[in-house]
Amino acid sequence: MNRVIRISAVLFCAGLLLLNFRAAADTIVLKNGRRITAMSVVEEGDKVKYQTSAGELSLPKSIVDHIEKGGAVAVAGAPGADAANLAIAPPETQPRGGGGSEEIAHAAVHDGSIDREYIARLESEARGGTKQANFNAAMGHHAASIFELSHGDLEHALTDERTALIYAPEEPALLMNVAYTHLRRSEYKQSLDYLERARRVVPDSPEVAKLEGWAYYGLNKMDQAVAEWKRALALRPDAEVRAALDKAQRDKQEEENYKENESSHFTLKYSGAAEPALARDVLRNLEMHFSAIESALNYSPPDSIGVILYTQEAFADITKAPGWVGALNDGRIRVPVQGLASVDQELSRVLKHELTHSFIQQKTHGHAPTWVQEGLAQWMEGQRSGESAAVLAQIYTDGHAVPMGGLEGSWMGLSGNGARYAYAWALAIIEYIVETDGMGDIERILDRVGSGMATEAAVKEVVHSDYNDLMQSTAEYLRKTYGH
Ligand SMILES: [Zn+2]
Repeated sequence: MNRVIRISAVLFCAGLLLLNFRAAADTIVLKNGRRITAMSVVEEGDKVKYQTSAGELSLPKSIVDHIEKGGAVAVAGAPGADAANLAIAPPETQPRGGGGSEEIAHAAVHDGSIDREYIARLESEARGGTKQANFNAAMGHHAASIFELSHGDLEHALTDERTALIYAPEEPALLMNVAYTHLRRSEYKQSLDYLERARRVVPDSPEVAKLEGWAYYGLNKMDQAVAEWKRALALRPDAEVRAALDKAQRDKQEEENYKENESSHFTLKYSGAAEPALARDVLRNLEMHFSAIESALNYSPPDSIGVILYTQEAFADITKAPGWVGALNDGRIRVPVQGLASVDQELSRVLKHELTHSFIQQKTHGHAPTWVQEGLAQWMEGQRSGESAAVLAQIYTDGHAVPMGGLEGSWMGLSGNGARYAYAWALAIIEYIVETDGMGDIERILDRVGSGMATEAAVKEVVHSDYNDLMQSTAEYLRKTYGH
């Protein structure tokens, strides 16, 4: 096949939550005998589309023999899940300085909520200045941070732990917890700063080495990631580190055979089998898209974006994704380019789509819901609602549209049509917002989501509609714009 098969990867929710997720599955049987287990299989034009933990994938119909419906399957975690989603639990360290931290934790968080009055009292006692009083205030905020972290509230977890550090700046447990929260937010460089501080206090901590490995992994520094994780294992056996190390070594081994190119915003790797001219062409194309997306979103991702060009087989080996997988973005943009000599129109669209995911991911610290990710990625690559407008408007009129709240998380559980329409709705909603008030509104929504606001609240502040209103306005827009 001389073309890239398109997919849209779901990169933020396809992590740990999907382990043990069970759903009805179909089997796609290819003419070469290969069997692919998949969910939500639909035939569409000359393609067969299906959902996997890596997002929607598609195959050319010409290679499919038949589809077997039904059956149930346990879906494994995302192939090559985003580095932010590594299966690594928060550090387990007891604060070192002073005693009584457990009593303080119980008093600071009880009955399922944080006792802010109690913490405020600890803080006013700390103003007296004894070492123990300062330690107590730190422990109050630390307990609040742990509670928030366990509820997925990374924004407040970070604020509380940073406040705790003001009272106990050398406490490794606090430094590691700030670092851990940054890692969960894909903020690898910031995380390293705190880990280096922790290492100065506890040079032989396996927890510090474990988290440093994760930070380097996120920064695509595989040698350092492997070194830190080996160091962590030498200090203490740890199944999470073992699994992460195996994955990093697989990536590293594969990538050692790869040549490397760099441009201002990208680090690109490709196997010897790919043409150097193609690699340069891909970088030129990506830089062009980078400028376009940068000015559209008025945002420039601070970290260099990793891109890997694969021959089809290497791609499946590394990501453990099913065969015939197209491009995906799991923190790095992974693109199969077998048989291509230069960037054609379809590859260019795929690159722009996946690059948009990287921008949104970095701008929102991984907090953008699926409909924003996929809607904006489709819009940026140049898709518009034209063909699906009439059908969507009709579905809405009939009251069969999925409520927008249902488009926020993973789309894995949706039926075949449900998944197809989820992409179409996501595009239509983004298109409506952009066409009505301009890309500035999208930028403002992303900013708010990035600072921890719920997406519907962000939408309400920016476009003054709740989800129901927005859906209705989108349906009206589709009718008005594309109707007869
Ligand atoms: Zn996508």
